[in-house]
Amino acid sequence: MQETLFIIKPDGVERGLAGEVLRRIERRGFKLTRIKMLQASKEILAKHYEDLLEKPFYHQIETYMLEGPIIVGTFTGSDAVKTWRKTMGVTNPAEAELGSIRADFAQGPDENGDMRNMVHGSDSVEAAKREIEIWFGE
Ligand code: GDP
Repeated sequence: MQETLFIIKPDGVERGLAGEVLRRIERRGFKLTRIKMLQASKEILAKHYEDLLEKPFYHQIETYMLEGPIIVGTFTGSDAVKTWRKTMGVTNPAEAELGSIRADFAQGPDENGDMRNMVHGSDSVEAAKREIEIWFGE
C-alpha cells in the first residue's frame, strides 16, 4: 500500500474536469483519503516546487498555478505513486501516452513553452510524504 498526493490544477477545475479526474482515480481502485479545494499562494508553491525555483520557466508555473482554485487530495492503493504517474502521462501533454489524462485533456506547450497539463502527482514515495506535509501539514 502506498499513499500519493494529487492536484487538479486550475485548468482542470475551470474546465469542469475535476469529476473526470476523480473518476479515473476511483475507477482504478484507489481510495481517496483527503481532498480540499483552495487558492494556492506563491509561498506554498515555492515549497511544493522547490526543485524548480531556479528554472527559467518557474514564473510560468507560478502564473499557471495561481490562475484559479485547485483541488488537492491524497489516495491510497497498491503502487499508487507509479500507477498515478502513468495514469497522468508525461509532463509535456504533446508527448503524453495515448489514453493518459494529459494526452486526453491537457493543452500545450504553446509557442512560449507554456503548458496546461491539468494534474500533478508525486514522483516518489518520499516526495509524496513531503508534499502531503506541505499541503495537509500533519
Ligand atoms: P511533473 O512531475 O510531470 O509535473 O513535472 P516536473 O516536476 O518536471 O514539473 C512540474 C510542473 O512544472 C509541470 O507539471 C509543469 O506544469 C511545469 N513545467 C515543467 N517543465 C516546464 C516547462 O518546460 N515549461 C513550462 N512552462 N512549465 C513546465
